[in-house]
Order: sequence, then C-alpha cells, then structure tokens
Amino acid sequence: HVDVMTALVSFDRVFEVLDLPPMVAEKPDATPLPTPSSRPAHPGPPPGGDAPAVEFDNVTFRYPAAAEVSLASLESIARTDTAPSREVLHGVDFRVEPGSLTALVGPSGAGKTTITQLVSRLYDVSDGVVRIGGQDVRDATLESLRGAIGVVTQDAHLFHDSIRANLEYARPDATDEELVEALRAAQIWGLVAEMPDGLDTVVGDRGYRLSGGEKQRLAIARLLLKAPSVVVLDEATAHLDSESEAAVQRALRSALAGRTSIVIAHRLSTIREADQILVIDGGRVVERGHHDELLDRGGLYAELYQTQFARQALTDDVVPAAAPQ
Ligand code: ATP
Repeated sequence: HVDVMTALVSFDRVFEVLDLPPMVAEKPDATPLPTPSSRPAHPGPPPGGDAPAVEFDNVTFRYPAAAEVSLASLESIARTDTAPSREVLHGVDFRVEPGSLTALVGPSGAGKTTITQLVSRLYDVSDGVVRIGGQDVRDATLESLRGAIGVVTQDAHLFHDSIRANLEYARPDATDEELVEALRAAQIWGLVAEMPDGLDTVVGDRGYRLSGGEKQRLAIARLLLKAPSVVVLDEATAHLDSESEAAVQRALRSALAGRTSIVIAHRLSTIREADQILVIDGGRVVERGHHDELLDRGGLYAELYQTQFARQALTDDVVPAAAPQ
C-alpha cells in the first residue's frame, strides 16, 4: 500500500517536471491555445505583443482526493478519513496583462503554489474559469498548453545526464550556439565553460554537483530555450544571501522579459518591478496594487514587507539594474 502511494507521488513529480498535467484530460474537441505557433529563431523573449493575457475568473478550488492522499503520505500524516477535501481557493479573480509581471506574495499555505498550478492546468478548477489568451484552459490541447507555459520551481530538477541533454530536452533541435547563448543569458555560461567537459559535463547527484542557485540558473537557461510566452516561476528562498544572488536576479530578468509572468516572489527587487502585486491570504486575494500603494495601505503587505522583505532593501542597491548582453 505504502509503495503504491510512494510510486504515485514520484509519478506525479515526474509529470510536474515535464510540465505534463497529470490530473486532467484533454477534451476530444480541444483546440490549440491562440498563442504564437512559431518560435523565435533564437532563444529569448518572444517578439513583442504576442504574449497572451492570463485570467482567473472567480476561481474556486479544492484538491482532488487522490492528490490530498499523496500530500498526506509525503508528510507522513496518518489519515483514516476520506472526507472531501477542503476548499483552498475561494473566488480568486485577477488578470495578468500580456507581457506583464504579477508577483504573488502571502504567508505560507495561503494558496500561491496552488494558483500557479492552475495556470498550467496541473489540476482543473472546481468552479470559475482560468483563461490564457481568452481561451478556457480546459478547451486547449495539452500539447499547446505545455508549449506555451514555462515553469521553474524552487527545486529545479536536473536529469543525471550532460548539461547538453538537460537543455536539449527543452529544445531538441538547438545548436551549440543557441545553448551557449541561453547559458550566457542565464548567467551560468562562465561556470559551464570552465568545467572539464563543458556542455558534455554530467550533472546531478552522481555527477558534477551544482549549488541550488546554479541549478536554478540552468533551469532558467532551459526556460530561455523553450521560449514560452507564459512563465510561472517560484523564486528560490534558499539562495537569497549567496554571492550568486545578483547573477540569479539578472538571469530572471532575461527569463521574464516580454513574457506574461506569474512569480511567487521572495525577492524585493522582483516585487518592486511587478506591474501588479497580489497579496494572497487564506485562499483569497486580499490586497492588490503596486509596492508603494500597498505599503501606504498599511495592511498585510506592509506587514509582510516589514517581516520578510525590508532587510533586502539594504543589499538591493549593489545589484546592477540591467543584464549585460
Ligand atoms: P508556501 O508559501 O508555504 O509554499 P503557498 O501559499 O504556496 O504556501 P499552497 O501550497 O498553495 O500555499 O497551499 C494552499 C493550501 O492548499 C494549504 O492549506 C495546503 O495545505 C493545501 N494543499 C497544498 N497542496 C495540496 C495537495 N496536493 N492536496 C491537498 N491540499 C493541498
């Protein structure tokens, strides 16, 4: 029994890594998302203006029962009841304009990760609609969804394989030149160039050990090669004070430019640059606006700022404002 659950969990996680929605089915009459079908010739932002809007229209959500069991077994919680799962999002309503950046902030367990999972249709909403480019994601082909959305999570997964193979999975036809270009934009080419086998260096637990920040930058290079028009990103908290912080920040700027982006934000710089901050608490959007407006309001954002972000203001000034080309 336990083994089956463990297998289910890891199966789930593999799917998540591959951006494949595991809990949902494609409709027989599904159509591709109305997003650009042709990729730019080089990795980088899509040509201006064709990134789609992302909308949450009064979205309510409870996790399917199976997903809840997976979580419970992960956390070694003994569960004997089979009560229907709790509603974790209640009437969430927002719009991310094409090519703009929305930062999600809020206390732990507020529902930020759940919101990002609904964007890529890892699960279906219980009520309401999620739209990309005006189309209900439930009406889109899964292939077009996977192609349109790039996801970078906190623990970027790398296959035990060469850097080249890890990158080519995002873009099988990439030339070496394109790989290097993406690595450069992701601020990790310097490191790869110094490795004994360069692009052919094997990474992962049994290969070259990359730090968390380095892994995340490699994941960003992969994202740049995929060149999605929508980006969903969970900023890592673990590397905030490391010397690679400025590099990660520059890499993020390349990754988000020109794309419709939803970021679970832990960096003050990201939050300040956001076109819109959504403050999530208890499965609801409780405040929204820009950094300065929300600070002036003196509500939950102001409180989170004081406890989580204010100390970053001290080091922010040393971070260069633009990515070197
Ligand atoms: P954090 O900042 O700690 O990552 P979060 O804001 O991302 O938190 P979520 O992970 O979205 O919060 O969780 C929202 C709620 O949904 C929490 O109550 C959580 O326990 C619950 N939840 C998360 N994943 C599952 C799951 N697979 N099954 C059932 N409930 C879940």
